[in-house]
This record gives sequence, structure tokens and C-alpha cells, in this order.
Amino acid sequence: MPVATMPEADVLGRQDPELAEILLGELDRQSTTLQLIAAENFTSPAVLAALGSPLSNKYAEGYPGARHHGGCEIVDVAERLAVDRAKALFGADHANVQSHSGSSAVLAAYAALLRPGDTVLAMGLPFGGHLTHGSPANFSGRWFDFVGYGVEAESGLIDYEQVRTLARARRPKAIVCGSISYPRHIDHALFREIADEVGAYLIADAAHTIGLVAGGAAPNPVPYADIVCATTHKVLRGPRGGMLLCGAELAERVDRAVFPFTQGGAQMNTIAAKAVAFGEAATPAFTAYAHQVTANARVLAAGLEAEGLAVTTGGTDTHLLVADPAPLGVEGRTARGRLAAAGMVLDTCALPHGDIRGLRLGTAALTTQGMGEPEMARVAALFAGVLRDEIDGRTAREEVRELTGRFPPYPD
Ligand SMILES: *Cc1c(COP(=O)(O)O)cnc(C)c1O
Repeated sequence: MPVATMPEADVLGRQDPELAEILLGELDRQSTTLQLIAAENFTSPAVLAALGSPLSNKYAEGYPGARHHGGCEIVDVAERLAVDRAKALFGADHANVQSHSGSSAVLAAYAALLRPGDTVLAMGLPFGGHLTHGSPANFSGRWFDFVGYGVEAESGLIDYEQVRTLARARRPKAIVCGSISYPRHIDHALFREIADEVGAYLIADAAHTIGLVAGGAAPNPVPYADIVCATTHKVLRGPRGGMLLCGAELAERVDRAVFPFTQGGAQMNTIAAKAVAFGEAATPAFTAYAHQVTANARVLAAGLEAEGLAVTTGGTDTHLLVADPAPLGVEGRTARGRLAAAGMVLDTCALPHGDIRGLRLGTAALTTQGMGEPEMARVAALFAGVLRDEIDGRTAREEVRELTGRFPPYPD
């Protein structure tokens, strides 16, 4: 059901037409442009219903059965359901579903395992590390001593030999695997082996790929990592938020690192929406979705490469890919602007080598809309046509409108 026809939108429209207008404008933007941002998706109306529910009113510091507030008996059931569904979905002994975001989940993982000043080995930011992997602008870079590993210049693949060499030389307290833009599967067993060799914890930041894991389309880090951090709003298609998965021995430390160490009261509406999303992710339909997401990404990557863009690692195993438009004579930022004018919304990102910026795009949202391989081939052609200036902005915008019109994210 489109938000436009939801009773809530009518209530808002009567009371606050100014804000209702904004809401409808954003729904229109999401429905009539192509959402190629790799971290975005369309949650189901059921997830939106839980998010907009009266559970938002409830204060619930603590954990089910041990709250600092009264009246938690019903929201306790919601949180237990979310935890049980997450544990079953990912095969984890313990799940914490309270993290407000992916970054909060990473902060909690560090708080559970590290002390300020500890050395941490993670993917360097120019290679695809997240802000929480040691950016000087983030708590991580300020409070810990981060060492960055990278990717091989030729293949674009993680340089596991460098990871091992740096681990031996720097003896980190923790090693982080996971990235905002690495398009290939990660070898968790090899990371575990390196971590064990130097006595380090292994933290998997699976913010991007956890939805693929749920659908069986990417390897599960849970058997290998001491703590898995994730978001619930990327490929997983739930509400905006985070979560942590770990073994029984770290359960209490992880829970205390979330509340009371890094957060206050849990957002019970969001936790209920996470439970709904975990329920959806456990269905055969979601397994099919996750595999379609990766199949679509492969077609999109191959299409862009055939059009002359340089695709890092020569393709993708996941929902995302990184492409350098320089061979078409356009720099990343200019390319993003031109594509946006044509109705194709995506991000620029750091490229592993050199100062120029590339384009990062993903197929999670388009696949939720029902687009498949033929549409990906068409998007690749349109994309390259716009960058080469062979298709003018207005014609491209019309094509995008036609395409999105056939695949509405919230059909009536
Ligand atoms: C998206 C992402 C995060 C942060 O998630 P937020 O919810 O935006 O805080 C952390 N790590 C990685 C690898 C990510 O891709």
C-alpha cells in the first residue's frame, strides 16, 4: 500500500499539510527515480506499520525480564521475538537487536572487546573501510590505534598476505573484516586463522551483506567471528537500525556494551519492525530475492564493463559494485550529477588507487521493485549513454519514468 493512501497520511494531511506534502514528495521521488544507492532498499508496508505503531511510546531501558521501567510485559514479547528470529536466521547463540544503527553496533562491539588505545586492524578507508574502521573524524580513529590493510593493485581483491604481515607486526587486539564497497565475498575462515595466529578478536562488520546471508546468497560470518555487527536496513530490508550477533560467552559483555554503556532506552517500535523483517527474511521468497539481487548485480556489472567503465575486481559476488567512469572521459562527481539529473540516484566512493572517485551502486532496491536481468541491462545502457552524452538528460529521465512506472515500489 503506498504511503499516499495510508490512513496515517490522511491524519497527517489534515493536521500538518506542510509536513504531509514533504512526505508525499519523498514518496514520489523514491517511486519515480532509480534508487541505486547500494545501502538503500524499500521496507514492506508491514515493517512501516510496526515502525509507526504505538510501541514508539514505550520506554524500555534494559532487556526483556530486566527493565528499568514498568509496563514492559508486552514489548518484552516483541523483543524476545526479534531476538529469537535473529538467532534462528543467522545460527547465532546470542543476538542483541537494540543498536540504533550500524555505527552504534560497531561502537558496542569495540566497547565489549577493547580499551581505548588498543590497536585494531581494519580495511583502510581508501579501500572501502567504514568511518567506524578508524576515520580520524570518527570515535574509532580518535580512541583506538587503527592500522589499515588494503587490496591488491592488480586484482582489487583483499590482500590477505598484507593482512597477515600487518597482524604479525602490529599484534592488534582485534581484526575487523567488512566494508562499505568491497564487492566480493570475504574469506572469513582465513581472517579467523590470521586472528587466531596473533591472538586477536575477529569482528565482522556485515552491515552491507547480512541480508544476503539471511537469503543464503553470501557466506555467513557467524561461525567465524567473535562478534558480528550489522544493519537491518540495507539488503535485509528492515527498519533503519543495527544488531549484534555473538556466541554465548560474549553475550553479557555485548548486551552491557549496548545498554547501559553506549545507549539508553531501546526503540521498541523499531525492534518490533526488526522482528517483522526477520520474519520476512526467513521465507523462501526472501531467499529468491537475495539470489535475484546478486544475479542482477552481476548483469549490471557486466553491462557497465561492456560499455567501457572500469569495474573494480572485474565484477561482483554481492549486491554492490564499484565502477570508475574515467574511461568514458567523466570524473566520478560529474558522473553522479549527470546521472542524478537523469533520475539515477547513486553515490561516489573512494577508488583503491589514485585520488579520483568512482561510483558505487547496488541492486537491493531495484530488485525489491521486481526488476530483473533485462531491466539491469537496460539501466547499464542508459547509464553509459548519459555519461557519454549520447542520451540527453530529458530523454533519459523519461526512460527512467517509464521503467519505474512499471515497477512501483509500493503497488496499490
Ligand atoms: C552502513 C555501514 C555501517 C553503518 O551503518 P549506519 O546505520 O549508517 O550507522 C557500518 N559499517 C559498514 C561496513 C557499513 O556498510
